[in-house]
Amino acid sequence: MTAHLKQKSAPQRSKGIDQFRMIAAVMVIAIHTFPFASIHGVLDQIITLTLFRVAVPFFFMVTGYYVVGPYAEKKNYPKSWKINRAIIETLKLYLLSCLLYLPLSFYTGALSFSMPFVKLVKVFVFDGPMYHLWYFPAVILGLLIVKFLLKRVSLPIALVITSILYLLALGGDSYYSFVEQVPALKTLYRVFFHLFDYTRNGLLFSPLFLCLGALVYHQRKQAPFLTTTKLWISLVLLGIEGFLLHQYTVLRHDSMFIVLPLASYYLFIWALNWQPRKEVKQAQSYSLGLYLLHPLSIAFLYYFSKSVGLLQNSLVHFFLTVLLTIGGTWIALNLLKVRGRTVKRKSLHRARKQLDQSALQKNYQTMQQLLPKQTKLMAVVKANAYGHGAVAVSRILEQEGVDFFAVATLAEAIELRKNGLQGELLILGYTDLELVSQLKQYDLIQSVFSKEYATLLNRKKVLIRCHLKIDTGMHRLGFSPTIQAVQSVYGMNYLSCEGIYSHLGSADKLESEAKKRTEKQINTFDQLLTELAERGINYGVTHLQSSYGVVHYPKLSYDYARVGIFLYGALSQPDSTLKKQLQLSPVLSIHAVLVSVKMISSGEYIGYGTAFSAKREMKIGTVAIGYADGVSRELSNTGYALRYKDFDLPQVGRICMDMLLVDLSEVPEIAIGAEIEVAEGSEQLAVKSKTITNEVLSRLGTRLEYDN
Ligand SMILES: *Cc1c(COP(=O)(O)O)cnc(C)c1O
Repeated sequence: MTAHLKQKSAPQRSKGIDQFRMIAAVMVIAIHTFPFASIHGVLDQIITLTLFRVAVPFFFMVTGYYVVGPYAEKKNYPKSWKINRAIIETLKLYLLSCLLYLPLSFYTGALSFSMPFVKLVKVFVFDGPMYHLWYFPAVILGLLIVKFLLKRVSLPIALVITSILYLLALGGDSYYSFVEQVPALKTLYRVFFHLFDYTRNGLLFSPLFLCLGALVYHQRKQAPFLTTTKLWISLVLLGIEGFLLHQYTVLRHDSMFIVLPLASYYLFIWALNWQPRKEVKQAQSYSLGLYLLHPLSIAFLYYFSKSVGLLQNSLVHFFLTVLLTIGGTWIALNLLKVRGRTVKRKSLHRARKQLDQSALQKNYQTMQQLLPKQTKLMAVVKANAYGHGAVAVSRILEQEGVDFFAVATLAEAIELRKNGLQGELLILGYTDLELVSQLKQYDLIQSVFSKEYATLLNRKKVLIRCHLKIDTGMHRLGFSPTIQAVQSVYGMNYLSCEGIYSHLGSADKLESEAKKRTEKQINTFDQLLTELAERGINYGVTHLQSSYGVVHYPKLSYDYARVGIFLYGALSQPDSTLKKQLQLSPVLSIHAVLVSVKMISSGEYIGYGTAFSAKREMKIGTVAIGYADGVSRELSNTGYALRYKDFDLPQVGRICMDMLLVDLSEVPEIAIGAEIEVAEGSEQLAVKSKTITNEVLSRLGTRLEYDN
């Protein structure tokens, strides 16, 4: 495939950035503890108060990269929800932190009851009620400013404007001693200082770094060129600048330098490409914990510093602060986890489906490893993720690095967006024309499968992101696989064609007839791609295989493969060879309560109808799950058995809407309230009810309790 024609896809989370967050957080702690004070003050001036100043810009750039980047790149698309959500999340965190530090802020005098309202606004909007909390309002204000700018001007111009803001900030920070000598400027800064104590805030300081993060996002496909060298040079220059300023001038504040944006920029690119050999798990939580909690450690240690001599050594003090904060974070995280777990682990009341997160993660890894390096997995989470709970499933997969999801309907897509899914979302099915504005509102990608549909969509005059669906031989949905059929769509003003795909009709079988059909479909698809490329048409990302397509045709290297059923650890139909080969684990287990046990005499009919009568005295149990919950009536009297401990419990009589009956004659000790396993995997249910696991799983009823 012609690489240069491909559209950029969303970036995967960078491990380097995640790990570097922690280092940056430790730098912030250093800034607040002066680790080198006992050795030589100049070391702190150069290292702590100059070089480590890259830490906070780094954090701003992370937000800029992930949140502002997509917005700046596709201004036409409503990526602003990412920004809006970042603002809301930051605000929540800010309010929580303010609450946490409320006693300390009163103690230090940053807040007081007699404070005038204007001063209060100044504290909360610019300075923060504790010395490190200015960061949160700076993110919020910065994002608002950058969003405002990028709505009106391009990223380069926004960079120029935010650079000017940064220069203004610089003038009120480490360069104030120069500025002060110009009377007009001095007056201007007097106004500034009336509004905020420091120019290091969301108005002047953070916007530039948010834009720089977006710039790196924009350049992310470029190969890094001498990054390490450039980083070293900029750090040396930064060190020199800081040293000179500290030596020869009086700094009003020392958080900004002329070289700082440059050094932060190269540092960020370096971190983005950094492949840490060892990874700390939960790096993001730990960096947040370090940043948020370290002033508590400092206050705590301050209390002892007079009596414990060792604490007066600045390096010891610094390391203890770091260790104490890591410990505090660990405790906080575990407390949260334990609480989360006890709240989450639901007890079984009637009938429940339960999600196994690690099985899902494992299946994802298995499938991703089958794919060639350049092919990513698009998670198919339609029909409530095949009954597994689409929100929970996509959340887990997004954390694993999946950046593209597919659903069948608009409503399914909106549910995921409302629950915070960030990745790209493709709607495989039809969306009613009256609803197209919601495609834009929720930043969704619509499948377009015919010229008629394309024309109608285009007439709506709402810019729609789409993937073209090609019918290469399945004859369900799709354009004919010819240039003539699709060409005009690429010229439509309101359709942004970002991808092209097709679907295989017989990839699950390897008999010669099926193989022939599949190969013909593959060739047809490739042929069309070649012709489009020859005409210079940018068709965007490509995808063809679903689960069986990946396993049976693993060499195909399109941009994505749409995987559904195998993620959930089920084969569509039993296949012992394939099962052994793939080693997938079932993700869902279903349990129901035994609600009644009784003895039945020989000759009695059981349940509705006369299909089943007892041939001998039997112990019959009633289990609280029925076909309305997804246990198909087709399974009645087929030899389908439920499980309890090591016992098979054959199902008997007709399955009812809300209950089913089992034979307990062989089980010596069982009482009502027992948890019965309805199915270990979905294959048995599928075979016995003459369908595929896909149907069994997707029909699991909404009445089931759910534990994820
Ligand atoms: C459902 C679906 C998939 C996923 O198929 P699995 O066999 O579950 O992996 C892929 N592509 C399209 C178009 C689908 O409708």
